[in-house]
Amino acid sequence: MAHEEGEAREELLALVRSLKAQIRSDSDVGKIPSYLCMKGDMPQENRPLQNKRSVEFHRETRTAITLEDVKQELGDCQRCSLGRLRTNLVFGEGNPKSGLVFVGEAPGGDEDVQGRPFVGRAGQLLTRIIEAMGLKRKDVYICNILKCRPPGNRNPKPEEINACEPFLIKQLKVIKPQVICALGTFASHTLLKTDVPITVLRGKFHAYHGIQLMPTYHPAYLLRNPGAKKQVWEDVQKIMRFLSPQKL
Ligand code: URA
Repeated sequence: MAHEEGEAREELLALVRSLKAQIRSDSDVGKIPSYLCMKGDMPQENRPLQNKRSVEFHRETRTAITLEDVKQELGDCQRCSLGRLRTNLVFGEGNPKSGLVFVGEAPGGDEDVQGRPFVGRAGQLLTRIIEAMGLKRKDVYICNILKCRPPGNRNPKPEEINACEPFLIKQLKVIKPQVICALGTFASHTLLKTDVPITVLRGKFHAYHGIQLMPTYHPAYLLRNPGAKKQVWEDVQKIMRFLSPQKL
């Protein structure tokens, strides 16, 4: 009984945390949360892109920066200590005009050797997920929070994220996707600036500077927990329903 009460309490706390995160992220993009608005009553100024921070995020997109420009600015990056450990920097790849961007954590061993994102076992599973969505890898854009492999695939450190995230943001500003799919806890927490568990975040769209962001489980987690594939399938179907076909 006490155990069940404890579990219910934990679940309630997770929900409260999730609600707080949603309110925080709604207010970050200047929205009155939809659950506080009457139907058809959404004021003009609540549109995500009208918010100051959001306008800041999108400002540079008016100049014609390309992904190649971002890559050049990154150069032979040594902004953090991962620079001297890598074999290859993994910038990201795919359609620069895609409506859908997948963001993972950081390159692993295979990615480090090949200089391409998601090409190892987890990457092959991601490719199958993309194909199950009726798409090809070349239709979407795939990248990571970090561009260099952390030794032994350890979790990225804050100073590594601080050095690398600005370049991911620049890539997203160039691509201007309709949807970002954040793969796993790490990408979701870094982009949404929250520590709400992925179990609570996944399956719902969250606002990211006026872009819809769908967190879901990381393919590497699916390799260890194949039972969670069903939930990922549900999450990516929500993405497909949201995307307009001409954006892919
Ligand atoms: N895991 C990631 O998060 N990214 C990759 O590119 C490969 C594995």
